[in-house]
Amino acid sequence: VKVAVRVRPFNDREKQKNPKCCIKMQGPSTLITDPKTGKDRTFTFDYSFWSHDGFTEEADGLLVPSGTQYDDQEKVYNQLGKEVLDNAWDGYHCCLFAYGQTGSGKSYSMIGYGANKGIVPKAMNEVFERMKATTTKDKWYEVSVSMLEIYNECVQDLLADPDKRPSKGLNIRQSKVRGVYVQNLSQHPVPSFEAIEKIMEEGNKNRSIGSTEMNKTSSRAHTIITLSFKQFEIIDGKTTERFSNINLVDLAGSERAKSTKATKERLKEGCNINLSLTVLGQVINVLAEKSMGNKKNAVVPYRESALTRILSNALGGNSKTIMICAISPAELNYDESLNTLKYAERAKKVKNVAVVNESAQDKMIRELREENDKLKKLLMAATQGGAIDMNDPDFLARLGAFGIESKPGTNNPEEEIKEKLEDNEKEVKNMEISWKDKLEEEKKWENEREVQDKTLPHLTNLNEDPQLSGMLYYNLLESPIHVGRKTGNPKPTITIGGIGILPNHCVFEMEPKELPKEEAKEESQEEEKEPDESE
Ligand code: ADP
Ligand code: MG
Repeated sequence: VKVAVRVRPFNDREKQKNPKCCIKMQGPSTLITDPKTGKDRTFTFDYSFWSHDGFTEEADGLLVPSGTQYDDQEKVYNQLGKEVLDNAWDGYHCCLFAYGQTGSGKSYSMIGYGANKGIVPKAMNEVFERMKATTTKDKWYEVSVSMLEIYNECVQDLLADPDKRPSKGLNIRQSKVRGVYVQNLSQHPVPSFEAIEKIMEEGNKNRSIGSTEMNKTSSRAHTIITLSFKQFEIIDGKTTERFSNINLVDLAGSERAKSTKATKERLKEGCNINLSLTVLGQVINVLAEKSMGNKKNAVVPYRESALTRILSNALGGNSKTIMICAISPAELNYDESLNTLKYAERAKKVKNVAVVNESAQDKMIRELREENDKLKKLLMAATQGGAIDMNDPDFLARLGAFGIESKPGTNNPEEEIKEKLEDNEKEVKNMEISWKDKLEEEKKWENEREVQDKTLPHLTNLNEDPQLSGMLYYNLLESPIHVGRKTGNPKPTITIGGIGILPNHCVFEMEPKELPKEEAKEESQEEEKEPDESE
């Protein structure tokens, strides 16, 4: 695991408090000064990015170095993003994490704001450029994307309709053939950078809707974008395949919950969020120990949280992994920054063994079919006497081999086996449909992008996470417009959810009824002579 640390400028809130900077960077070393004792502590990482000062802002908001010390988005991308792409091209799974307290700059580095585009959009852009430059009739590529969120240990598909989300979230499953996977997570084929941009925009919109409806804060959710990247090449008349999953992970804020202000619900949620991050910490600890040759028999506690289960491969297995640790420069945040640096120090000790992933598809279909045959036999053998003997340790052990977990007397293994069978069959079918056919079917990215004209009357959302603010846009271009819950009567034109929202929350009426749109203006001039009395 390679580790980078990045320090941001003071934010407005910090600036008001006459802040002192407690971070220094010298070459590869990062020094943090304890404000109480004045003592420095030194950490050394693979990369350190100084983005605290030494820059100017251009008219479009782009931050550019004014000297040599400032590390801008371009430099961060060139050092980290390009490496991820190179690895993906070589056929390695890759993973890029952002870790740090809320407001430390995780999203800024990963996604970016406005003109300051982050690693993810820059990398995606380059993926398609490199593809374009190297595609021939003997070499081609297939890219699909999925996007999920883990909130309160519950996994949701960010590219699925928020109305259709299962309330308990998606199941995480494990199979010998497929490894760990999220059941029913949608995968979207993407032919271009524009397509992927649109899909991610939709994901963020769904994230915003989710966060208002549940009254949750995005800083407590983990977001994972996965790019599945396949390369095909005809060599000596034979088609070879290489594939790589690129996981881009924006973790929840690492700050510890301040118990004084937290409500009961928040506290529970806080525990669960911390559960994922705590387990991530434990996983990293055990992996670090193992990498140093200690505790060879220790069990890595991947299974203890949703996040670590989903990322088990990226963390301790077959993946080239980079962690960006974002820290605040302010003395005020000394404790959290120190914690982040300590976390990073452990992460850098982890050694993964990545291998090139070749020619998966046919083999996997065959293996899935074989697994299903075995499952069917097991099911038949088990139910021969009518019911399954849940206390038969031999049977339970055999279930375990299929990744089905059953403790004596708990759940119904018959259901589980059937579900697994269906799941496998679905996957085989899915794999047999060509990427091109899926692309044909998928029109998500083709939807017209909504024009967000902020000079016309509209509603938009505010969110404490700047990444989600302004993501929702509802124009008020007719009259009347009812706003409320799905259950409202009359049915709301704009449906919103969230604490405090009434079934019929409010009505917007406009006078005159016509709108200051260009066409509307022209029309209303013609009608001016005969004003409608009822208006
Ligand atoms: P996080 O995702 O960790 O909660 P954000 O990335 O949203 O934090 O950053 C919080 C604020 O700090 C944003 O307004 C962002 O623009 C600003 N910021 C973060 N990192 C930088 C940086 N390297 N340069 C300039 N501004 C930054
Ligand atoms: Mg963020």
